[in-house]
Amino acid sequence: MKHIVLFGPPGSGKGTQSENIIEKYGYGHISTGDVLRAEIANKTDLGKTAKDYINKGQLVPDSLIIDMLDKKLDDFVNAQGIIFDGFPRTTAQAEALKQMLQKRGTDVSVMLNLLVPEQELIDRLVKRGETSGRSDDNLETIQSRLNTYNNQTAPVIDYYKAEGKLANIKGLGTVSGIFELICEHIDAV
Ligand code: AMP
Repeated sequence: MKHIVLFGPPGSGKGTQSENIIEKYGYGHISTGDVLRAEIANKTDLGKTAKDYINKGQLVPDSLIIDMLDKKLDDFVNAQGIIFDGFPRTTAQAEALKQMLQKRGTDVSVMLNLLVPEQELIDRLVKRGETSGRSDDNLETIQSRLNTYNNQTAPVIDYYKAEGKLANIKGLGTVSGIFELICEHIDAV
């Protein structure tokens, strides 16, 4: 079973490319952002806690995310592969993922790191905010999400580099062109 960490800052195209991967490879998909938004819509305790962090552009605490992911993994025992979209976002989450997969006799196959310049990210997210209905797609929260990414999430790149799992992908150009690069890496692992 392949475990693909689809990584990159907000607006780098993780959601769009996840859809392409699902369509071509039929893999299971875990987007921690989607799971949290569903928890908020269902007004669960986790949703109520997560909402404030999300609206400030901050990360939901590791312990909550890791518990949530551990439960979600059990939904995919028979999958050909799993795409992790928006997780891990801290080095502690990356370590926890390694342990959760080890417990199941497996490991991350590759980390696909989508590289997109910051101004392009801001332009994409502001544009997305016109139609997404997401409470965090506004300029103030976007700036905060990018700071959070740079300070807390970007170090995860070094974690996977040290593991020999890092694949950098230029996330500029056409969606289909970027997807071709992604497929080359998925097929190679
Ligand atoms: P996303 O849909 O991936 O852009 O996530 C939206 C928001 O959900 C983020 O800005 C965080 O507040 C929260 N979130 C999503 N995934 C995680 C994660 N792995 N760790 C902590 N917070 C997360």
